[in-house]
Amino acid sequence: MANECAICHKTIGILKCQGCEVMFCINDYNLHRGELHQQFNALMDEFNQFQDASVNETVNAEQLLFDRTNTWEMQSIQKIKETAEETRHLVATLIKSRNEENSLRTRELIEKLQKGQQTENFDERNLTKWKQELNELKLLVSKLDIYVDEQKSTDPFIMKIFASEKDVFEQTCGDVCIQDNGLLACHTFNLFGNSGEIRGKKQYRVGVHRIRFKIDNLDIHPWWFFGIISKSASMQTNSECLSSAYGWAGHDDVYVNGKPFKKMNGYTSDYSTGDIIELTIDCEHHQIQMTNIRSKKSNEININLSHCPLPWMLHLNLFHIQTRIRINPFNQ
Ligand SMILES: [Zn+2]
Ligand SMILES: [Zn+2]
Repeated sequence: MANECAICHKTIGILKCQGCEVMFCINDYNLHRGELHQQFNALMDEFNQFQDASVNETVNAEQLLFDRTNTWEMQSIQKIKETAEETRHLVATLIKSRNEENSLRTRELIEKLQKGQQTENFDERNLTKWKQELNELKLLVSKLDIYVDEQKSTDPFIMKIFASEKDVFEQTCGDVCIQDNGLLACHTFNLFGNSGEIRGKKQYRVGVHRIRFKIDNLDIHPWWFFGIISKSASMQTNSECLSSAYGWAGHDDVYVNGKPFKKMNGYTSDYSTGDIIELTIDCEHHQIQMTNIRSKKSNEININLSHCPLPWMLHLNLFHIQTRIRINPFNQ
């Protein structure tokens, strides 16, 4: 029947709910409305719960992101502090070593002068030589050849700091040459690809020293040697074979006492143009160490003083035409 209450089937006072299109008597209509109110209240409760929860969730998510940012901040500051502390320590070590080297030379000159004074055994030739030594000493003492710079990187946000010491290339033997005021070691063009020795100017006798190189250019199949040699060794074209030659070369060779050892302590000759190489010369512990800043690979060699007596000098040997090695690379 169309005109009766769907619940109690009364036919008097019938109302139609517009929402569900069901017919009700007054009494059942009111009950029906009551149900709708209950459903509405339940919906409101759910909505309020959702609102409270979503506010809490946002607060929690925000806190999580803040926490993550704060952790990054703390760790980065810590890393910067540690690196700064290491650099300060290294600067102090380099300056101490430099002062020790200089006072050693000063003492030697004083002894020579005192001996000359006591024995009166000198003439113009001695005076000229001592004057020259004094001038060299003045130059060494007057300029502080240690520097601190930022390590250039592909990620420019805060660059790492480092400290280093300056040296220059001074002597050559064979098909090699020095350019750019002693800062660039080059191979001289030669069809047969002969090798040649290049040495630094400084003598290392005490303390710890650190020098940087940059590979300005390398051949496709590069072979080059870098390391140290005793000052007492005479210059020669295949200088890496001299008994006081210690260092690193191409073909994964580590040279100890003038002899090559393949992949010693995991060494591989992984070099590319643009690489920065850090060389640490530790006269105290009779050790040299190299680090490639790009690959972060390091290698250490112990030096036998009976094969390689102090003082030591920087020592390069270049074989290929296009090899160019820069010393004290600035702002790299
Ligand atoms: Zn209804
Ligand atoms: Zn009814």
